[in-house]
Amino acid sequence: MPTFVALKDFIKLGIAQPIIDALEAQGYSTPTPIQEQAIPAALAKSDILGTAQTGTGKTAAFSIPIIQHLSENPSPSKGIKALILTPTRELALQIDESIAAYSINTNLWHAVIFGGVKQGAQVEAIKKGVDIMTATPGRLLDLMQQGHIDLRNITHFVLDEADRMLDMGFINDVKKVIAKLPVKRQTLFFSATMPSEVVKLSNSILVNPVRVSVAPVSTTAEKVTQKMFHVDQKNKKYLLRHLLENKEEEIPSVLVFTRTKHGADKVVKDLVKMKISAQAIHGNKSQNARQTALSNFKNRTTRVLVATDIAARGIDIDELTHVINYEIPNISETYVHRIGRTGRAGNSGVAWSFVDWEEVPFIKDIQKLIQQLIPIEESHPFLPGTKVAEEQDAKPFFRQAEILQNQKAKKKAKSGTLTSNSNFKSKTPNNSQPRSGGNAEPVFQPKPKPQGEPGLIKKKFKPLGSKD
Ligand code: AMP
Repeated sequence: MPTFVALKDFIKLGIAQPIIDALEAQGYSTPTPIQEQAIPAALAKSDILGTAQTGTGKTAAFSIPIIQHLSENPSPSKGIKALILTPTRELALQIDESIAAYSINTNLWHAVIFGGVKQGAQVEAIKKGVDIMTATPGRLLDLMQQGHIDLRNITHFVLDEADRMLDMGFINDVKKVIAKLPVKRQTLFFSATMPSEVVKLSNSILVNPVRVSVAPVSTTAEKVTQKMFHVDQKNKKYLLRHLLENKEEEIPSVLVFTRTKHGADKVVKDLVKMKISAQAIHGNKSQNARQTALSNFKNRTTRVLVATDIAARGIDIDELTHVINYEIPNISETYVHRIGRTGRAGNSGVAWSFVDWEEVPFIKDIQKLIQQLIPIEESHPFLPGTKVAEEQDAKPFFRQAEILQNQKAKKKAKSGTLTSNSNFKSKTPNNSQPRSGGNAEPVFQPKPKPQGEPGLIKKKFKPLGSKD
């Protein structure tokens, strides 16, 4: 279906053209159920009580109406007009990224603040003026107490992941923030679950809310056969080739997920070098390039489609049998969304995850969310610590990590507890074992964490309706 017809579903919700254009640029074609339910009500300025998890498209559901209201009623004041409170730094960054994308054709300013990094850049951005601020509660209160943030001009307030706020012990901080908000405002309240304390909080801050609700994303995980492979990041390309060459389990086409655009390009480059047809879709590719890549994949001209999460969300591929998580997402719901690309319409689906040492905590979170243990493939040739002889040949040369499964985790797995993946132990590498060498222990060196602060503040000056 041509995009312009499908986007009609967004237009029907009352969304203005500049935002429609932005959604089109994101490759969205139809609203998600939560967007269908929440956007018209929020545009009509109702409070919203939403039961929805991350991964359902709720960010767009709350941020599109805010962007539309603020851009249609510009205010000369530099004060913050919309505040989005969310429990974690990752979610805050993700929300701010989405706001950047959806507001690209407006002249709104947005910023994200969270703890664990220096506050200087955040304070600078606030001084310049921010329309839409995404924040975690601790840093927000901190900056409020220092007098850097004033909430008097707030007209829109979003409380995101209220139940997680509660779990993480932030509820009192949240209440302190709410106490400083103007009484006359629109409040959009989202929570994946509604324990009684969350219900109490919602009752105290919402006025005649419209209730919207969508099924939890975790249910999709049950339909897909999952497996994980522990593997060093640098060996993932060889493992991918190994799996694609496996005659026993033929993979006619596979959707491979990376976390970054750069990562997606790199995987394509590696695969093409290995003579495996592959193309990437991500936000740096033009709409045309994305559509070509997608149709090549659908008609099986390209065997591997490598995608980032944002780019892949809008796509729907029938009969996709395999999804590979080349990199593990740090937001658990993203995993569920990724694997939900396969196993559709009664077809069987397979989802494999390549897990490097640094990604083990993400997998643990994912298992908690899906309430399942993902079985570990213990006998692949690129177990952690494996040295590859040479890039051309790419055959395992040393294998030091023969035994990955730790007994304790296995026992726990049998008894149904969700903590199986602690089998990575940080050990000093010992590369002296020969290829077939015996009882070597898993060898894994934690990599140093990347230095520097992630992109904190982003702003744009594009006038409403500008096309560039
Ligand atoms: P959220 O639940 O807001 O975290 O959204 C999850 C993902 O869905 C994000 O990567 C969004 O870019 C994507 N997304 C949101 N709405 C749509 C849509 N209507 N069509 C395709 N993708 C979407």
